[in-house]
Amino acid sequence: MVSTLSGVSASEKIDQIPDILDRHKQFFATGITKDVNFRIDQLKRLKEVIMEHETDIYDALKKDLNKSPFTSFMTEIAMVLGEIDLFISKLKKWSKPKKVRTGMVNFKANSKVYYDPYGTVLVIAPWNYPFQLTMSPLAGAIAAGNCVVVKPSEIAPATSAVMTKIIQENFVEDYISVFEGGVPVSQALLEQRFDYIFYTGSTHVGRIVYQAAAKHLTPVTLELGGKSPCIVDEDIQLNFTAKRIIWGKLLNAGQTCVAPDYILVNRKVKDALLKRMTEVIEEFYGTDPSLSDEYCKIINERHFMRLSAYIDGADIAYGGDRDMDRLYIGPTILDNVKGDDPVMQDEIFGPILPILTYDHIEEAISFVNEREKPLALYVFSKDKQIAKKVLKETSSGGACVNDTIMHLASEDLPFGGVGASGIGAYHGKHSFTTFSHQKAVLNKSTRIDVPLRYVPYKVSLAAFKQMAKFIR
Ligand code: NAD
Repeated sequence: MVSTLSGVSASEKIDQIPDILDRHKQFFATGITKDVNFRIDQLKRLKEVIMEHETDIYDALKKDLNKSPFTSFMTEIAMVLGEIDLFISKLKKWSKPKKVRTGMVNFKANSKVYYDPYGTVLVIAPWNYPFQLTMSPLAGAIAAGNCVVVKPSEIAPATSAVMTKIIQENFVEDYISVFEGGVPVSQALLEQRFDYIFYTGSTHVGRIVYQAAAKHLTPVTLELGGKSPCIVDEDIQLNFTAKRIIWGKLLNAGQTCVAPDYILVNRKVKDALLKRMTEVIEEFYGTDPSLSDEYCKIINERHFMRLSAYIDGADIAYGGDRDMDRLYIGPTILDNVKGDDPVMQDEIFGPILPILTYDHIEEAISFVNEREKPLALYVFSKDKQIAKKVLKETSSGGACVNDTIMHLASEDLPFGGVGASGIGAYHGKHSFTTFSHQKAVLNKSTRIDVPLRYVPYKVSLAAFKQMAKFIR
């Protein structure tokens, strides 16, 4: 039996779920979370305790993924603190009912959009950026005035423990509760009726979450995965292209939802790109990345074996070295890959970069469109028309032109998938609207009443049709 930080076993905690949810309901019903000042205070507290525990968070991420403090700060803590700061500074403005136009059809009235918290939100998180992908939705849910149940990933246990400590020691359980543990805990939570579910993880489990939510008609955000293509045209800035692709692929050893999964490169520049990418790998991580403090490990044996199978028997253009004891897989580039190779079937989620070639941009576009809609798409070209064509003729959750990954670091851009890569989006103001129900409110005058709508109708249908053109 696995003990959680609070000394309560996962199965004991499962038994407590209905009671804790009931307490969330009562806490929400007090209306306290609807007070914007309360939310701002909670966000300030969250920021403060994250900063107090900065070293513990670094230690945990080192243990779980061999992340260096620099990478941990850049990709996990800074993103969460940035979101919290934005919420604190904008919340008063965002949460005010927003006046919108009222058409003549509603003369005389005013119309506003109210931002209502849903109630109790369930946040289920993955292991790859275990801190950011738990705390960032948590901050968004707090900003919008919800109670929150947090389910961190059991696959990153050290980070799960630190986050549990931070939450349990600083927030009343009736407001924010944490359930550590694996699939049984997640399943037990999903049986309950939540007011909103925010799930980040694989597309496979996303389907399970969606089905569970459907039973209660619970709205969801599903932040899923997929194979994000990286299209490289012949007309590129070679050095920046190689650097930005390799950085995006090898960040967190490729265990990034928006990592460029594979390269589709114009045949004319393939050799030059391959050569420059291999040089860049060594400039970034040295000739033996296993010695680099900045190179992450594979999360566990299961994923090590899964990734290893992609390398065995493949045409290795670079790397391929592995060490099971240290869960190390070196940066690996695979050449002459075909669309039906095993490595092209599922999201790779590791430091393996397959290269496929095309002769005309239409082939690359068709290749992408024949597959599930990806979470991200990257196109490298100095030719604006090529980039425009790719963006126009493909569908993906998000995209970068001449970069990888960085679109998710922009707080003004909604981050999310489309089709099999997800439903909904968040980050910045989009987090606030995601965790708020946008209630449409019409407020009608009690002094004037236009009788036109009442039966028996006073005008003919023909006359009404003429009037309808103007009453909008
Ligand atoms: P996962 O789907 O295996 O697990 C995610 C969470 O779901 C965990 O908390 C886990 O305990 C829970 N879970 C697992 N199986 C479950 C089940 N049968 N029923 C209920 N809950 C279950 O995902 P993962 O391996 O942690 O993460 C990797 C995947 O997540 C990749 O596909 C990656 O692309 C995706 N991802 C997406 C984003 C994004 O923002 N779109 C971010 C990070 C990761």
